[in-house]
Amino acid sequence: MEFRFSKLAQKLKSSMIRELLKYANVPGAVSFGGGTPDPETFPRHQLAEIAREVIEKEYKYTLQYATTEGDPELIKQLLLLLRRIYGLDGLSSENILITVGSQQALELVGKVLLDPGDYVVVGDPEYLGALSAFRMREAKFLVVKFEKDGPNLDQIEYHLKRMQKEGELSKVKFIYVVSNFQNPSGITTSLAKRRALVELAERYDVLIVEDDPYGVLRFKGEHLPSIMNFGGTDRVILLNTFSKILCPGLRIGIVVADKQIIRKLVLAKQGSDLCSSSLTMRLAARYLERYDVLEQVKPAIDLYKKKKEVMIEALKEEFSDVCDVDWTDPDGGLFVWTTLPDIDTMEMFKYAEQRKVFYIPGEAFKPYEEPSSSMRMSFCLPSFDQIKEGVHRLKLAYLDYVEAKGLKCR
Ligand code: PMP
Repeated sequence: MEFRFSKLAQKLKSSMIRELLKYANVPGAVSFGGGTPDPETFPRHQLAEIAREVIEKEYKYTLQYATTEGDPELIKQLLLLLRRIYGLDGLSSENILITVGSQQALELVGKVLLDPGDYVVVGDPEYLGALSAFRMREAKFLVVKFEKDGPNLDQIEYHLKRMQKEGELSKVKFIYVVSNFQNPSGITTSLAKRRALVELAERYDVLIVEDDPYGVLRFKGEHLPSIMNFGGTDRVILLNTFSKILCPGLRIGIVVADKQIIRKLVLAKQGSDLCSSSLTMRLAARYLERYDVLEQVKPAIDLYKKKKEVMIEALKEEFSDVCDVDWTDPDGGLFVWTTLPDIDTMEMFKYAEQRKVFYIPGEAFKPYEEPSSSMRMSFCLPSFDQIKEGVHRLKLAYLDYVEAKGLKCR
């Protein structure tokens, strides 16, 4: 049967991550693949109790359609939480939209801001889900190197200047940045760069989309002010999510933006799903009312800190003799980004698969298809022993690969 798919559907490809990780669950495998939080950190008993209660007692709300903007009880709690996390005051419910995870927020932002052929400034590497959402709008990418302290600002300015010269600046719709412990690199944009980014965006009159799922998961150092703290809602759209600080299954994302932008996002969301789930929104609202989520998440942060330390130690032990090897050592989040010189981590994948260790090749996070010598290693799910064993297997896979290719490894 030949179906007459849209041009967009014809272009859709299965996600590389999904394809590669199909076999990550084989017995005995160690996976550094998915960025999924450790389920043992989910407050399942508390949520179960509240779920029963809100279904029994608040069924008129929880089993009914909600408004597109989101549960007012949750928005009330979110305004308090946003003040605590970011010190953002002066926001009202009109500045908030609740989405089905922040992935939907990315899709909706794409829908209301991007026409085909518009430009978005993105990093190399960049969060794959954001790239996919913007690709769906047929956006073009202005790519800048994501360095050890965040995006390369000279390259951003170079792009903006060039677009201005070509009379195309109005087509540059926003700069996308994961400000804390970026997925995939684990890199945090420095305070100086946050300020300078806002100045740049003001000078060239472009928006910034700040995506911050990981900021709360800081296990070392001081929390930095968000980009929105410098740019406000005139300049910045801030995205957040409960996926990493509570649990992804609730599928609750948050957009903080100017009222006019929120209104457009609401209209776009109506055409997409009418509303987020009344049940999970109210469940989250009552959870936030009863428990201090920032306290509750502390054991999880502690666990990730330890897991990250085990991964870094294992990398030191196994890979220190490989010349020019590099890895990030993040102060939070879920990812370490390892770069091995002169290799293609996509090609190396099959050797890793044979050794039953899985990672995400850096190529997945390239805005344009090209090989990468980096890989994303997520430390949140495997146990301490699995992390050590996985890094050991990774070294063996690396040695198999360099031998097969006749490369010099050290
Ligand atoms: N943005 C970034 C940077 C992410 O890493 C993720 C999750 N992997 C998301 C957005 C989407 O998260 P969710 O839809 O679960 O809120």
